[in-house]
Amino acid sequence: MKFASRLVQFDAAPGDRFRPTSTPIYQTATFEQEHPDRFGDYDYSRSGNPTRKVLEELVAKLEGGTHGFAFASGMAAITAVARTLRVGDEILADSDLYGGTCRLFTRILERSGIATRYADAGNLESFAAKITPRTRIIYIESPTNPLLRVIDLRAIAEIAHTNNALLVVDNSLMSPYLQQPLSLGADIVLHSATKFLCGHADVTGGVVVVRDEKLAEDIYLLQNAEGNALAPFDCFLLQRGLKTLKLRIDAQQHNALAIAEFLAGDPRVKRVFYPGLKSDPGYTLQHGQASGAGSVLSFTTRSVAEAHAVAEQARMFQICVSFGSIHSTISLPGSMSHASVPPEIAASRELPPELVRISVGIEDAGDLIADLDKALPQSNLTPADYGLAAQLGEER
Ligand code: PLP
Repeated sequence: MKFASRLVQFDAAPGDRFRPTSTPIYQTATFEQEHPDRFGDYDYSRSGNPTRKVLEELVAKLEGGTHGFAFASGMAAITAVARTLRVGDEILADSDLYGGTCRLFTRILERSGIATRYADAGNLESFAAKITPRTRIIYIESPTNPLLRVIDLRAIAEIAHTNNALLVVDNSLMSPYLQQPLSLGADIVLHSATKFLCGHADVTGGVVVVRDEKLAEDIYLLQNAEGNALAPFDCFLLQRGLKTLKLRIDAQQHNALAIAEFLAGDPRVKRVFYPGLKSDPGYTLQHGQASGAGSVLSFTTRSVAEAHAVAEQARMFQICVSFGSIHSTISLPGSMSHASVPPEIAASRELPPELVRISVGIEDAGDLIADLDKALPQSNLTPADYGLAAQLGEER
């Protein structure tokens, strides 16, 4: 079956004698056992729940894996993967990562004796040179967020495997509809399911997918032992959102390209970062490893004040962290989603303060372009013109 069919053609309720066409929400903590010394399929929802199981199996298949695990958030999913490491192990990560992931790696994992190094995975040679005998995980997002740099996943997988490390790919920005990292050589693929998998910004969730039996055992052990699995109702909502993944992304991507082309031709915009544009340096690589460029893009304005002005003036783009929802959103990564990047790492990242990120929704493309056109300032603004506060944003 093709991807569109697989999103809806699956057994929604294995073993249920009423044969519901939607997966029931098994809102129960415990399952009765017939005998004290024998367990049935389920005994306790932390260890396993039928609503969760349907979701986990579906996501695993969509990603081309064999085992899926649903967690309470993307960060919980990333934490579970990181918890497979031991004292002394190291992570080598691309330098353009989601801020919360950097915060986890740098401020939390270090406490357990796990160090993280960062390097530009776009430069394969210098990236590989950062590997040490202790490197166990190579951690990548592609395209990266928020600079939309495309990383050569096949090449990085090869580098990982020749050095006895695992390649972990955060596929949140693409979803399995556009990119399936396991087929490109990754060992673990994970998501903030809060983004495109859910698609409606009404669930926080995370998933991990693998196809190695031993890794699966380890991730399951962590999910059960640490108790951070996704709750049944959220599993239901996530699974409902997933059914329209292809329809949503097709519409969002169509809008994103139209917006990127508009922005690329507007003199008020300095640079557009979107590998769906033929002029983007990542275009060819992106289309060789994914079937589209997605619907998140960034651009720089002429000044920080103008970046703030666009975010404030746009009416159809809600100012929001996160991305991937059917609603269009706008953010200034430097002061929002990436404010949690520790300062020493932020200093080495080239994140322009006048960078604006938008996540394009399913609204009418013409309406969205007209809204941005109106929001972009007509004359050059300075921080003083805009009454810009020097420090913005709470850590997320
Ligand atoms: N990965 C990426 C690329 C993200 O953008 C985010 C959150 O914005 C996360 C992981 C963390 O996911 P969550 O917010 O669901 O914990």
